[in-house]
Amino acid sequence: MAKDKVSQEYGSLVFTDADMQDRLPKPTYKALRRVIDEGKPIDLDIANDIAHAMKEWALEKGATHFTHWFQPLTGITSEKHDSFLTPKGDTTILMAFSGKELVQGETDGSSFPSGGLRATFEARGYTVWDPMSPAFIKDEVLCIPTAFISYTGEALDKKTPLLRSEVVVEQQAKRVLKLFGRTPKRVVTNCGPEQEYFLVSEQDYKARPDLILTGRTLFGCEPAKGQELEEHYFGAIRPSVNAFMKQVDDELWKLGIPMRTKHNEVAPCQHEMAPIYEQGSLAIDNNLLTMEKLKLMATHHGLACLEHEKPFDYVNGSGKHDNWSLAADGENLLEPGDEPDENLQFLVFLTCLIAAVDEHADLLRASVASCGNDHRLGGHEAPPAIVSVFLGDELSPIVQALIRGKHVSAHGGEEVDLGVPALPNLLRDNTDRNRTSPFAFTGNKFEFRMCGSQQNLSDSNVVLNTAVAEQCSKFADDLEHVSSDKFVESAMAWVTKTLKAHERILFEGNGYSSDWEQEAKRRGLPNNKTTPDALPCMIEPKNLEFFEKFNVLTAKEQRARYVAQAEQYAKLMNIEVNTMVYMVKTMYLPALYSYSGKLAQGVETKEHIGITDVATKQTVQVLTDGIASIDAACKDLEAANKRAHAITDPKAHDDAYRDEIIPRMKTLRAAVDSMECICDSSIWPVPSYNSMLFYV
Ligand code: ADP
Ligand code: MG
Repeated sequence: MAKDKVSQEYGSLVFTDADMQDRLPKPTYKALRRVIDEGKPIDLDIANDIAHAMKEWALEKGATHFTHWFQPLTGITSEKHDSFLTPKGDTTILMAFSGKELVQGETDGSSFPSGGLRATFEARGYTVWDPMSPAFIKDEVLCIPTAFISYTGEALDKKTPLLRSEVVVEQQAKRVLKLFGRTPKRVVTNCGPEQEYFLVSEQDYKARPDLILTGRTLFGCEPAKGQELEEHYFGAIRPSVNAFMKQVDDELWKLGIPMRTKHNEVAPCQHEMAPIYEQGSLAIDNNLLTMEKLKLMATHHGLACLEHEKPFDYVNGSGKHDNWSLAADGENLLEPGDEPDENLQFLVFLTCLIAAVDEHADLLRASVASCGNDHRLGGHEAPPAIVSVFLGDELSPIVQALIRGKHVSAHGGEEVDLGVPALPNLLRDNTDRNRTSPFAFTGNKFEFRMCGSQQNLSDSNVVLNTAVAEQCSKFADDLEHVSSDKFVESAMAWVTKTLKAHERILFEGNGYSSDWEQEAKRRGLPNNKTTPDALPCMIEPKNLEFFEKFNVLTAKEQRARYVAQAEQYAKLMNIEVNTMVYMVKTMYLPALYSYSGKLAQGVETKEHIGITDVATKQTVQVLTDGIASIDAACKDLEAANKRAHAITDPKAHDDAYRDEIIPRMKTLRAAVDSMECICDSSIWPVPSYNSMLFYV
């Protein structure tokens, strides 16, 4: 039977397992599988064979260059293209690519943020092939997914700690499974990132320096209509957007990215897409590629894709839900089983997760802290800054019963010997979604909903993986010495004891309510509302020890990451201030000078012929007062920013932006916005919310 077009093209730009099997000598393919499946090191002969096959494949697909594709601490991806061209000594050339070039690249990336790990004189960094993530072709370039490390072996990227954390969670989960008599080949994390974004017309985008320079509107008065009608959510997709989405799907499918769902979101011109979940680090690579393609493809349709967490005030911002689970040889460990011992195993992993989130709520919060995400979290459109776990109607009573030491019988589930509750299969169809919860059990996975739309999910998965590994190791440490006839009883005791100790993290109510904030405070849960509040925990001794103990990040690497993130915050804030000042001085004030001048002239002309125009005169007064307020607020902001910008200590620097700058930015914005709504729209120098959000 002929294959349909999508099946034919799916993965055509990826050097897939089938391609490898086709093109590699059998022993080489087997050796490569051992590298991929068992995490074994690769030797150079094998790498040479693979490089050759990969290059031949890439040349057939029209590639001319190769690149080591990596994720520096900026969170986005980086690449430097080298052509395969090698002179033969005469006038001819050879297209060559060696195993060494595949496995390791050297990059002079002294301009990437390193949080002080590299001085510029030792700028050398290495990119190292990650064979877990397949090579692919993008714009005639063979892209080889890599990790990025310094000359001295320190992680300089987002991927290295992610891979390390995947190793530890695998090791520790295997210890747990062994106690259940199981020895899977691989335990992996799975991740399904739901990506939200906005689309606006490219013309409007180009007319707004704030969108171009900062990704969000820094000014703009409230539109006449917002999202109150909720008509956009799941609404019919407008044709220009539909054409865009189709092309994005096509492009992503060719790259072997299993994009599945697409729909309109709540805010006007907001959309969402989600792939079928994949192994964690691969899913994150693919999410980054998706984000890149979204931006690029939008330009082919006269659109601009905004991936910022809060492009517009007055309507919802964008997040990225991190659906997370753990699987042993393809079997989901967060899926309640049919047999009592499977249920016990499920309860152990569930308990590990609950304890993990409670112990490291501060780090999880820090992992999603950013300038952009500060506008969402706690804003009645996204979970609060307080981390809590939601279990849902099915699971919550079971967990509560365990904590209270009661017998469990949920939804007809029979009680079984030895106190292991039978969990109803209903759990799988758990549709009870508490949208206000930051960390919700959704049937057979957890959904971490605090992540921002433009963030790289590596940071949150590093925390999650390592924290779960820690709990698994505690369980294994406690249970490995228990005789097998006592195992079930002891495991249940461990589950109940651990759930009791971490009960405070469980919350089934409305996360948006102010009561919860009070209640969370009483429970002693951290509530770090802003990035400057959230980041410092990264370098608390207990957290440095935590990552060091599991070989995920050394204290030095973790400190560097803190500095890089804190600096990033201050830099972005500084850019926002500069952009505001630039727009005020070169766009808003000049427009207001000329508009108020024109009105004043009209009033004067009318007075010459004996007509008194009181209303216009009043408007001129309001505009003149507005100009004065804007001018004063702008000068005040500039002066304060000069002081803040000069601070060198990362924490004091960020704190100054939170305390001294943000309130002044608000004052300036309010002054400008109050003028926008009384001015002739044709003289206003940038498109309004009304036109941008409701383009046709
Ligand atoms: P919703 O909007 O209701 O949360 P979506 O279908 O938009 O649901 O997104 C759910 C995401 O979770 C998808 O990417 C899906 O592949 C992913 N997912 C489903 N099961 C798992 C799992 N076991 N582990 C990780 N991710 C999963
Ligand atoms: Mg979701």
